[in-house]
Amino acid sequence: MDGLRAGFDLGGTKLTGVLAGSDGEVAACRTVPSPSHGTWVASAVLDLLDRLLGDVGAETGDVAFLGMGVPALVDLQERLHGATHVAGMSGSALLDELRAAGSWGAHIDNDVNCSAVAAIHAGESSFLLVSLGTGVGGAIVRDGRLERGAHGFAGEIGHMVVVAGGEECGCGKRGCLEAYASGRALTRRVEREFAMGRLPELTDPVRPAEPPSAKVVVEALRELEAAEAIITEFAYYLALGISNLVEIGDHAKVLIGGGVSASLEHFYDILREQYRAVMPYSRLRHDLPIEPVPYGPLAGAIGAAFLDSHRKG
Ligand SMILES: [Zn+2]
Repeated sequence: MDGLRAGFDLGGTKLTGVLAGSDGEVAACRTVPSPSHGTWVASAVLDLLDRLLGDVGAETGDVAFLGMGVPALVDLQERLHGATHVAGMSGSALLDELRAAGSWGAHIDNDVNCSAVAAIHAGESSFLLVSLGTGVGGAIVRDGRLERGAHGFAGEIGHMVVVAGGEECGCGKRGCLEAYASGRALTRRVEREFAMGRLPELTDPVRPAEPPSAKVVVEALRELEAAEAIITEFAYYLALGISNLVEIGDHAKVLIGGGVSASLEHFYDILREQYRAVMPYSRLRHDLPIEPVPYGPLAGAIGAAFLDSHRKG
């Protein structure tokens, strides 16, 4: 079983791995908790690879390529910068360790870029990808090619300002999209509403002093007006950001990925409605398709397995 491709996606809480056969089909996938420090990432990846190989009865020597997506800025030389969710990750040590561990070729990229590569693998060729997780990430693909930018950082859409002088963002700027339309922003908004005595219907009877989780609020958005108001505002800022990007890039479609957006059809309805409200018919892209990213939660790992055609060297 030679010519296998291994792809890994490191998140703040989970490390997901897939093995794809030479035909491009996923042969095995597994998810384990993320290591808590960058020092252990390479060994966690290699342990997970061993288990995936065991699942399909293959050996290390059968792996032709290993790719990895990380929640960090990754420059054109594949050095990591600013991996805020996993401490101790920077520079080129991770890639060096992964390359040294086998005879495979290896590449590293930003996790959202990896999801974009998965969408290309699924047949999409021109799109804006918006990833809604703890933060907001993005990727831009034209004619099957991932836009890199001058430093490798193109598509960092979470730090586009949507409110001049607005909420502080962790990046040091104010009013970023990420401060209004990310998992972290949603949690902060729910906590504020809860502190003001709103959302009493969603209080956990076992822990009445604790605010409800963002997930509980999202799940209640159809039944509860206060929850729907919170999600509608979230979708409004997201739609505003998307409309700005569509004006600049004239994208053919928008793909949405990341944990916050997973399997929430009602969220997509609200987002499409907000998008149409901020992008009038006269701008000619009022009905732009907004769809979930192919492969859902496996997108990052699957794209990582096919990174070699989108990385030089
Ligand atoms: Zn920011």
